[in-house]
This record gives sequence, structure tokens and C-alpha cells, in this order.
Amino acid sequence: MRVAIDGPAGSGKSTLAHALAERLNLTMLDTGAMYRSVTLACLEGSVDLEDDEAVTEVARRVRIEFQTVEDGTQHVLLDGRDVSEAIRTAEVDADVSRVSAIPAVRVAMVEEQRRLAATGDVVAEGRDIGTVVFPDAEVKVFLTADPAARAHRRALQRNVENPEEELAILEDLKRRDEADSTRETAPLVAAEDAYRMDTSGMTIEEEVQRITELVEAAKASVPDAKQDEIGFEDEGKQKADATESPKTAPKKATPKKASKDASDEDKPAGRMRVFAHHEPDEFYDTAERDFPITSRALLGVTIGVCGILSKTLWHWKLEGGEKLWKAEGGQVVVMNHESMLDPVIIVVSGWMHGRRMRPISKSELSKNKIAEWFFARVGAIPVERGTADIKAIRRAQRALQRGEDIVIFPEGTRIHSDEQEVTIHGGFALIAQLAKAPVLPIAIVGARDGAPGGNGPLRPGRVWMKVGEPLTFDQISEKNRKKRAKEMERLAMERVYALRDELRAAHPGKM
Ligand code: C5P
Repeated sequence: MRVAIDGPAGSGKSTLAHALAERLNLTMLDTGAMYRSVTLACLEGSVDLEDDEAVTEVARRVRIEFQTVEDGTQHVLLDGRDVSEAIRTAEVDADVSRVSAIPAVRVAMVEEQRRLAATGDVVAEGRDIGTVVFPDAEVKVFLTADPAARAHRRALQRNVENPEEELAILEDLKRRDEADSTRETAPLVAAEDAYRMDTSGMTIEEEVQRITELVEAAKASVPDAKQDEIGFEDEGKQKADATESPKTAPKKATPKKASKDASDEDKPAGRMRVFAHHEPDEFYDTAERDFPITSRALLGVTIGVCGILSKTLWHWKLEGGEKLWKAEGGQVVVMNHESMLDPVIIVVSGWMHGRRMRPISKSELSKNKIAEWFFARVGAIPVERGTADIKAIRRAQRALQRGEDIVIFPEGTRIHSDEQEVTIHGGFALIAQLAKAPVLPIAIVGARDGAPGGNGPLRPGRVWMKVGEPLTFDQISEKNRKKRAKEMERLAMERVYALRDELRAAHPGKM
């Protein structure tokens, strides 16, 4: 259960989130404290706040943790030091909006917030929780309150009695509201589906009661994706399933199975320990940057070796690569599939530019233990083709929300010739919809030549790839998720094949 609470400064988000966390047994995530901590670290290190890169460097470097102490209050630790009070001073108030407006700082913070909330049961409060951090939160609340009431509340929290100081707080709140609401990246706005609540005249008990009712209502309804029968299925399989008798058609995501998957989702959060046994599942559910150092080293070496070998033997080139490398969040990369080189090259080229890319691999590849061990450590996420693999869909969705890219080959298998029949496996569009991530079409040519007929060792040659514009599918008016996904799949693959034609025209003879 994820509860997102957004609203301007002093609207009572923290008090409400804290009370809800206690009542509903959720972990509380105070995202404002994170931006404040980065601001404090910059002020203490005399970092120029106008220097976006220097501030971003601090945001990426610092370690922010939350610790709940015996009396139930939550303390904020900055690199191990308790800064709960130090981050709530007028100096930090004055500069935090400047820091939080830097897009790269936000990327770092959002990634961290998703990581901290990976266990699933969380009440997070901030400015962009319902719109950016958890756009698919089960409950979204947007708080408002009259500015004077908010300033008074803040003054009470800080034991300020002097009216002039309270006036200064009011001025600061108004200034921050303005800055937070008008910044370009993730401004303070209510999510369309948020429940708006003006807390000016409400007691905290009333607020908690109302939101608890929303949480109960959300719990009672089965999440959309679990009701969908669409997964990595092809048309044929769906039709076949439709004709099966109920007894012989257990593949569909029934509510019972869905609820099991939901609990399976609550996988480990945080960095994986080095000297511990890890099941493959843990790798599929964890961000690559949180793999144990040994696995990250293995990944680095694998990427290095594959990079040098593939570049030497196939001189591959990626046209328009910046659309992949410079994207702000995770993208669903879809490609045509020619040979085993395709995933290698795309992951290597992304890695070289700081992207963390998770290829979706068919589960058959991880059938034997050694292959399963290896593929888990190089970031692959297996999918059971031909079924509604909700678990894989959710894993991919969460990877995207953490800012990792997903690489999918909808053709499902290597296509060795234009005569070969191609079946497009669905699933990627649903993932993109759930994670609200763009789909990035990429085509590859030349890799087929490496292994004619799909047999024998790959032969050296030249390989070209071309990246298209990211697709957000705004032009599709269809609201039904399943039909919309089908249309998205059709458009995305059309784009992949158009890019492939462009490559073939530019490099005659390459297939
Ligand atoms: O909630 P709080 O007042 O502690 O937040 C401090 C500042 O952090 C806000 O004024 C805003 O600039 C920034 N912030 C943000 N996004 C969030 C939470 C806080 O930009 N999700």
C-alpha cells in the first residue's frame, strides 16, 4: 500500500503522514527532509548553490537515512549524523527551493525515494509524490490550507512566539510555494486523481479518519493490472485460452494468484549484502547499483569484455544514441531481434553512458542453474512467455520507476530472415503504461550476417543501430487499457521497422 501526500509547506503533510504511518503500520518517508539534507550538506561544504553540477554531485554522494527512535519520532541522518534539527532552520528554508529545482538533484532523490520505499508499504509526503515518485500510488492526497494557518502551524512547531518571526515564516512559505509551483521539473501540482483536502479547519483526527477510509477503500479494490489478462501473450495464445474450458485454463491472472504475486512483490530494499546467499529473485527486484560489490564487479568486467570484443569484431555504431543516454528517467527500449549480439551491444552502449539497462529475457535462458546465476547478476529479468507474467511486468515497472531502462525484444526470438514468421509478444506497452514511461524504438541491422541461418559462430562484420524518438502515445485516444496497449504495440513496432528500413537504405546489403 502506497499513500502519497503532497501539498505546500505547512499544510500538515508531516503530521498527517506520521499519524497514518502509526495507525496503518506504514513506513513514513519525508521527502522534504531529503532535499533539506542535501541543502544542509551544500551549505556546510560551502558549495555554490548556483553551480548545478556541484550541488548534484553532493546529492549523489550523501547518504540520507531515516531512523525511528523509541518515542516513535523519526530522525534524519546525513552521512550517519543526526541532522533532524539542523535541516529545519531559516537558512535551509531559504535555500532548499533552489536546490530542489535542479533536475539532476531530483533524479537522484527520486531514485533514492523509490529505493527507500521498495518494501511497498509506505506513506510518502512531499511535492511530487503522486505525480512523479509514485504515480501509481494506491491512495493520493493533496493537502491545501490557508497560508496564515500554515505559517501559524510552522511557528508552533518551531516554538516561535514572536509575531514578527511568524510573519517572516509566512513570507518564506509564500516564496517557497511560488518557487515550488513554478519550477520546470516536477512542480507542486495535485495529481489528477488525487483527493484534495483543505486542512485549515480540520483536526488531525478528522484528517486521519478520512484518509484511512480511502486506504480501506483502495485495499478492497483489486488493482487494475492484476485484473488485466494481458501479459507477454501473443494473439494466438489469447485466442487459444479463450476457447479452453475453465478447468484447463489456469493461466489467467485470477484474483487469487494476483494476491499471491502482490505479496511476492515485497522484495528486499536497499543494498544487497556482499557475503550472503542471494536468490536470483533478489537481483530481479533490486536496482543494479544496489547489487553486492562482487556482482557489480562481475557486471563491470562482463560489460568491459563484451564491449571490447563486440566493438573490435563488429564496429557497431548507434545513431541518435543521445535519445537513450540523455533521457531523464527509465525508458522501455524496444528492438528488433537479430542475434545474441543485440542485447549485448545495447546494454554495453547504455552502460558506457551511465544508463542501467535491464534486458527482459525469456525464462528458458535461465533454465540451468549456471545460466540463471549469471543472467541474474548481469541484470536480466526473466519473463515466462505465453503467459500473463504479472510478476515480470511488475518487476519491469519498478525498475523503470527506479530510473533503470528496460530492454525488450517483442519478436521474442531471433529473426534470421525476412521470410521468417514474426509474432509480436505483448507486454511492453502495459509496462510502459503502468510505469508512465516512454517507449524508445531502436532498430538494428547487420547482426544477422554474423550467424547466417542462426547457426554456427557469429562472423565479424559491421552492425548499425538507430534510435528513434521516444513515443508517449499521446495521439491514442483509446481509454481501455488492453486496447490501448495493443495500439501502442502496433505503433512502436511500426516505428522499429521503419527505422530498420532507414538503416537498410543507408547501408545497402545489410539486413
Ligand atoms: O516539506 P518541506 O517543507 O520540508 O520541503 C522542503 C522543500 O523541499 C520544499 O520547499 C521543496 O522545495 C522541496 N521538496 C520538493 N519535492 C518534494 C519534497 C520537498 O521539491 N517531494
